[in-house]
Amino acid sequence: MQPLIDASQDCSPEALDVFIRRKAYKSASGSQIEVFSDLRFQVAPGESLAIMGPSGCGKSTLLRMIAGLDADYEGRIGRTGAGRTGMVFQEPTLLNWRSVEENIRLVMRDDSDGAAVLDGILERMEISAHRNHFPGELSVGLARRVGIGRALAALPGLLLMDEPFASLDSALAARLQEKIKSELALRPVTTLLVTHSFDEALSVASRLLVFAARPSRIIADVKLDDNLLDAPAHIATLRREIEDVMAQNC
Ligand code: ADP
Ligand code: MG
Repeated sequence: MQPLIDASQDCSPEALDVFIRRKAYKSASGSQIEVFSDLRFQVAPGESLAIMGPSGCGKSTLLRMIAGLDADYEGRIGRTGAGRTGMVFQEPTLLNWRSVEENIRLVMRDDSDGAAVLDGILERMEISAHRNHFPGELSVGLARRVGIGRALAALPGLLLMDEPFASLDSALAARLQEKIKSELALRPVTTLLVTHSFDEALSVASRLLVFAARPSRIIADVKLDDNLLDAPAHIATLRREIEDVMAQNC
């Protein structure tokens, strides 16, 4: 399949330098919920980073801060370049009064070959038959695929995906992971993938960050390179450790 973009277009992968001194929410009762305290990590251009951690530890909050949608924190998130951000929200977050095609077209670059890019996205996400449907007519799984397609259509330098394959059946999730992987192989995009599935992290990412419960801290930072993938005993141990962490409550 042709890549969605030719190399002459400016959408090079971004580097990230994340330092969050403090991020807290005010709860309904007025108390402070501290989500992050002195969190630091870097992401290299083109790196594909999976993020795992127990529910409520701040994964969605982190992605929203990196996307620039939540600026209410102390610290600094540095990004190289002025590339676009593709965001797959945990909930599909589509415009209900616009068709599938219109939802995707909204984020497309003016200089991209519109019809070809759109067709490529619809085909990759297996939603071509739904291009004229409205979000309200879609199942949750279909709406999720529109959300992923929309993020890819932005031809981003930074792709943020918040549990994008949740609620898809495992065969379809595996197919979409393969498609995203082959897209990233053709055109490197710095990618952050929040997931609850260790197998998904192994499949898509080149590095894994594991967060512990609030205030969140990084308890594992693992390269998922071929050396690791060739060591089944090591993978089994890592999987067990991560499952233990994921079972914690925040
Ligand atoms: P995760 O994605 O890891 O499950 P979230 O980032 O959604 O976690 O939430 C982290 C914590 O912050 C949770 O305890 C959640 O209840 C709290 N939280 C998230 N959004 C808000 C908000 N808008 N107001 C108050 N608390 C929030
Ligand atoms: Mg979340």
